[in-house]
Amino acid sequence: MIEKKQTVTKQKLVTVVTANYVELFVPDLLEKIFDIYNKRDFTKRNFQLSVHENTYSTSAIVLSVLGIEAYRNRIYYLEKKKVGKSVPSDISTMFAKKDSNFPKQYFEDILSEVFVIRDVIVHNHIYEVVVVSDDNWDMVSHRQKLLEGYGDNQKYHNFVNNRTRKTKNLGLNVQPGKIGFEDLFKVLIVLDLFVGISTKLFTNNYVPFRFTREINGKWEDKLSIYLAQFYNQIPNKRYKLSLKTLLNSFEAKLGNFILDSWDYFIHNKCPKCKEYGFHQPNHVTKCNTCGFEIKLVHH
Ligand SMILES: [Zn+2]
Repeated sequence: MIEKKQTVTKQKLVTVVTANYVELFVPDLLEKIFDIYNKRDFTKRNFQLSVHENTYSTSAIVLSVLGIEAYRNRIYYLEKKKVGKSVPSDISTMFAKKDSNFPKQYFEDILSEVFVIRDVIVHNHIYEVVVVSDDNWDMVSHRQKLLEGYGDNQKYHNFVNNRTRKTKNLGLNVQPGKIGFEDLFKVLIVLDLFVGISTKLFTNNYVPFRFTREINGKWEDKLSIYLAQFYNQIPNKRYKLSLKTLLNSFEAKLGNFILDSWDYFIHNKCPKCKEYGFHQPNHVTKCNTCGFEIKLVHH
């Protein structure tokens, strides 16, 4: 009798539960945050953001960074490698292994700043703030001092400008009470970069980021297009200018390592004037800066 060999296929499911937070909760928070942010008076130098903008933004940042960490774990599992102590270093090292031209140190620094802002939120840095107000209670000036015992690790000092209390490349606020929409939006741009690079460098679907969101009755499945609607409405001109400078440097340094498609925000640009946010929800392909428009027929 011939013995029949039985093949047992064992499939281990690699779950990345925390990654789902980004897909499910972050858009809910982002929409709430933007409504509040949009009502801010940008001519005033108000020190404190609204508690709502601050609370929703810090939560959304923590959830987004958890997502990046979960994907690091998944990449390392699939590559059969042991994870190290530093998520930014692990991710950048793996990307550089796949493509030796990858700007390892630059991307590691960017990710490190995102983890620094996560740390200040999670470890609840305490600042002593003195606010000087005029008769109308508008802020005239403020002084701030990080209390001893907080933020004195090396990681913090390498990536934070002590005068501005912002991270050096991304300009993220590291004073917890000042964190708002503007910080969250940059973190989401970095998340989009991370997903875009992973998708190009790994053949399999190592980072299965699935975005879906209903916008005006239609489903949108690209984070880049979803982000474009916020980008186009940003009321703070100074912030938008600094954001554009940042996006340009991302494009210059990382553009070749991300699929050349408007699926990723740094490639979602106006063909005419190169402004970002050209492809918008509900099949709108229009530049809000120069007015250039492509009308597509949809069936
Ligand atoms: Zn344009």
